Amino acid sequence: MRELLAGFLAAAVFAMAAPQPPTLRLPSVAKPVRYAVSVTVEPGSDTFSGNVDIDVAFLKSTRLLWLNAEALHIQSAVLDWNGKKLEAHSTPGGEQFVGFEFPEEVSGKGVLHVAYSGAISRNSSAGVFQLKEGENWYVYTQFEPTDARRAFPCFDEPNYKVPWRVTMRVRKSDMALSNTPVESEKDEAGGMKTVRFRETAPLPSYLVAFAAGPFEAVSAGKVGKTPLRVITPKGRAGEAKYAVEAIPQLLQRLEEYFGSPYPFEKLDSIAMPISDFAMENVGLITYGQSLLLSKPESDTILRQREFAETAAHEMAHQWFGDLVTTAWWNEIWLNEAFATWMETKITGEWKPEWNEDVSRVEESQGAMRLDSLVSARKIRQPIESDNDIANAFDGITYQKGAAVINMFENWIGSERFRDGVRIYMKRYAGGNATTAEFLAAIGEAAGKNIAPDFNSFLDQAGVPLVTVSLDCADGKAKVELSQKRSLPIGSPGSAHELWRIPVCLKYDAGGAPANQCELMTDPKTEVELKHASGCPAWVLPNGGENGYYRVRYAGDLLARALADGGAHLTLAERTGELGNAGSLVATGDVSPATALGLVPQFSEDTHRQVVEEAAGIAQMLKSDYIPRDLRAKGAKFIRDVFGARAASLGWNPRPGDDDDTRLLRRDLVPFVASVGEEKTLVDQAGTLARKWLNDRSAVDPNMLGGVLETAAEFGDQALFDRLLAAVRAEKDRRVRSVLFDALGSFRDPKIAGQAMALLTTGEFDARESFFALLFGPLSYPETRDLPFEFVRKNIDALAAHVPREVGEDFAANFPAAGEAFCDAKRRDEVKDFFEDRVKKYTGGPRTLAQVIERIDVCIGQRQALEPGLTQFLAKY
Ligand SMILES: [Zn+2]
Repeated sequence: MRELLAGFLAAAVFAMAAPQPPTLRLPSVAKPVRYAVSVTVEPGSDTFSGNVDIDVAFLKSTRLLWLNAEALHIQSAVLDWNGKKLEAHSTPGGEQFVGFEFPEEVSGKGVLHVAYSGAISRNSSAGVFQLKEGENWYVYTQFEPTDARRAFPCFDEPNYKVPWRVTMRVRKSDMALSNTPVESEKDEAGGMKTVRFRETAPLPSYLVAFAAGPFEAVSAGKVGKTPLRVITPKGRAGEAKYAVEAIPQLLQRLEEYFGSPYPFEKLDSIAMPISDFAMENVGLITYGQSLLLSKPESDTILRQREFAETAAHEMAHQWFGDLVTTAWWNEIWLNEAFATWMETKITGEWKPEWNEDVSRVEESQGAMRLDSLVSARKIRQPIESDNDIANAFDGITYQKGAAVINMFENWIGSERFRDGVRIYMKRYAGGNATTAEFLAAIGEAAGKNIAPDFNSFLDQAGVPLVTVSLDCADGKAKVELSQKRSLPIGSPGSAHELWRIPVCLKYDAGGAPANQCELMTDPKTEVELKHASGCPAWVLPNGGENGYYRVRYAGDLLARALADGGAHLTLAERTGELGNAGSLVATGDVSPATALGLVPQFSEDTHRQVVEEAAGIAQMLKSDYIPRDLRAKGAKFIRDVFGARAASLGWNPRPGDDDDTRLLRRDLVPFVASVGEEKTLVDQAGTLARKWLNDRSAVDPNMLGGVLETAAEFGDQALFDRLLAAVRAEKDRRVRSVLFDALGSFRDPKIAGQAMALLTTGEFDARESFFALLFGPLSYPETRDLPFEFVRKNIDALAAHVPREVGEDFAANFPAAGEAFCDAKRRDEVKDFFEDRVKKYTGGPRTLAQVIERIDVCIGQRQALEPGLTQFLAKY
């Protein structure tokens, strides 16, 4: 009996055991055909309720349907199938899934009705969340990559692209917005109304969006048939002026590029207080409010440029990403790289005077710095976990991807490339596509298969280093090129990669420059310079700086390329070559003395970008490798080279200054004050900061960050207290963000500790304060140990106050607190402390791997570079 009973119980347990949920992707048992979602949303409430009807096509007969759902409370589920109403039993599926079990096997088609409720978060921007502006709450959504499942049970993968019908029940006083225009609006009892939106074109779940709150709408006119609006929180409509001007200009240029009109019915651009990101939801693009809106009196040049670039990026996604969607997250680089590449192209067409080609070079150099780490991702990285999805949205995907697209556009010609993009858009409109299909379309237009060449950059990490030498023996000019992976000193990486690199040589051909492009497929190759007459005075192996590679010049070729202040080079080339020379110090290919020797010459350039790049090289004089007693000499070098220019620019703008002068002032004056420790400028910053605290018109908005941070760096407790009082009272989010940066900039360790401690009180929103307060102290030798000590002591309290933001945990950034260490003992402490802890933060393991590698590289660099820097300064 006993045994029998035991056996009976075991069988019962077996029958009732919860089915195993999927691990990452949904099984191919069913797919959606269309959705109707209805939500009741009242801003200020912590929950919302929803009903979703999913037309499902079963691909196999089954009794169990898995969907994605996260933090949803399922109230009931019924499947309309074969004329029956089958009650579905919902079964838990861990954090990401919910299963629906039917009383009998089903197949063919059915409609699943689910009633549920979900959370409206107040401190994270994932899923359905709300933000406060003034006295009012506003509800928004952010679903990319995997948070639509927090708003409704669904097939939350980008390949399931179907029409959606959204209905919202909101307060009569609120505006409801979604991806399409309103179809009908009906008042109801209880002060509510039902707003029904038109059915969308086929969309993946991550592009669905809705919003509710007492918004105001500002018309931005029309482009073609598309009505454009900027949606602001109540009372902020007056701040949309620049956006209203820029959006139609950029959209029109995008339509021309794609050769097809904007693919959806309307386009709203909506402001989110507090949040910082932008998202390309179809017809309802979200922007951080301080990017989209500005009071005219506190507006800055950089805000306007960043907005224009971001708007071009998000609107480019309406075609590239929304109309044609990548099939899975391993292909997301294609969306993001393309939109990033497009943002400089389209804003550059609109505003040629912004020199967007130089911004492109600067971004590409930034990507190379990240890509030189062994722990860097490949552009196209296999996705094996949620961590990989979170990590996929990084500088490699965006900036390296954009740089590689630019290189191949230049290689096949911009018109043919554009024709290829048009073929691709037309062929896959409304559906999904892959990298292979994109490259095939480009290849068709180019008349050659570029896939093997392109893939050599997609599927292996790292930056190629091309070494060039010139041989003019027997009357012919030839260059010898060789390639290997560029790795910083101290890197544990291998250098066995081989790329197929389009190398574009620019060289002197009897006084005029000539261009010649070759595809380099071997480790070593020889190229005859066809247009040279005699031996060229100079050779630039990265003409136009369009290539994603670094260049090492043999012999005196670097000096020859940069002779006469690079007078024969374009602005993008001068900027790029200086950046290249500076970065080769880290790889041991250029000595510190050679790089620093370039600084005085280029500090005089008429273009701000070149001066800023020269200042970037001089920044190495701030490094920890410099022995303490020589640091004063490093500061003197900076004052000697840049001091006069900084002094003449001063902290205050002058009438008639052009934008470039204003931008140079913004960069150079704080640099000389801080790194050059220029006393007069420091004192002036302190005086101006104190003045500004009483009178907000005392500092030019473009200079506010530089003034406050410089004052804080050399400031005392009294200044900290005043800045803290100011941030508590400040209503303008952009000004608050400048104030947080200043609070994180004190060099006095005692004060820096007070700034970090603000993070555990919960007084300030972590989305605004986290990075500035926690990582600011990494900038100075006096304070750089503090962030790690602080995190080590307070990790639980910190974790309680940081949100999950756009697919990633803020907490995944904790290991960066140890990033500035440069010795083995500290590296091991960072590793020991975080190794297990980061596993619970999405995206955390890779952050830790990168931090550990940066410390290792720093240890190697210190050993290799300290003697050269010491010698340079000792002689100086
Ligand atoms: Zn994007």
